[in-house]
Amino acid sequence: MITPHRKKTISDIAHYVASQFYQSNKTDLIAAAKFEGLNFYHDHYEDSFDGMLLYDDKDFHIHINIDRGNGLETKRGNFTFAHELGHYFIDEHRIGLMTGVLKSHASLHEVNQKNIIEFEADYFASCLLMPEQRFRSFSGGRGKKFSLETITNLSDAFQSSMLATVLRFAEIGTHEITAVISENNTAKWFAQSRDFPKWAFRFKVGQQLPSATVAGEFFTKTNSKYTTIEDVEPNNWFYANDNRANRTMHEQCYYSNSYGYVISLIWFD
Ligand SMILES: [Zn+2]
Repeated sequence: MITPHRKKTISDIAHYVASQFYQSNKTDLIAAAKFEGLNFYHDHYEDSFDGMLLYDDKDFHIHINIDRGNGLETKRGNFTFAHELGHYFIDEHRIGLMTGVLKSHASLHEVNQKNIIEFEADYFASCLLMPEQRFRSFSGGRGKKFSLETITNLSDAFQSSMLATVLRFAEIGTHEITAVISENNTAKWFAQSRDFPKWAFRFKVGQQLPSATVAGEFFTKTNSKYTTIEDVEPNNWFYANDNRANRTMHEQCYYSNSYGYVISLIWFD
């Protein structure tokens, strides 16, 4: 994982680039690439990668794969573009590619199977697309009601994918949340705000979801695709072992039709 110090270095670079290429609430990635003299191509590369940055002894070339849903002006395409820009703007990545210390690689969106270079480029991408100040001021101050709508509004405003937006919100958002991403009734991944109670989970990544959760019921019972805000027991998800468990916990699910995953958003008022 990336150290806090390293995160600061990367977010500083990303925030600087974002401030230079600010265009109606969004970071203009194309303008940033053009300014740096980078060549970029949105093209059909079948299933081989989402994005790739190549150096040919003179110039950098960013290849973006339309075949994996990374079209120009799509949220996924934006993230892929921003990720490849990360490999260019992060000194160690760019210099590594130029000197041959780093090899060009296929960047893929799959979670859970990434090396540190990929984590760093992902983190750069999220800071570039969702700079902290703009992100927080758009989410509204503390006290503002939180729900899935908060995330979808942010995702639309910053043209960033739901997954990237949830992860960013867990890191710097204006409300403490836990988000669990699942597929086929298996927990794939989670993100949690710093201020959320640090209770042990009733699931492990790679294993079955707790059955008494909204997402768990979606996978195991017919006709239980709930999209509204549900009140749930903290003990359905956690071993809630202090008095904060007496508060009402909410769960609301986002169902990705195109990629087959479910995001469970969990929060307190
Ligand atoms: Zn990469």
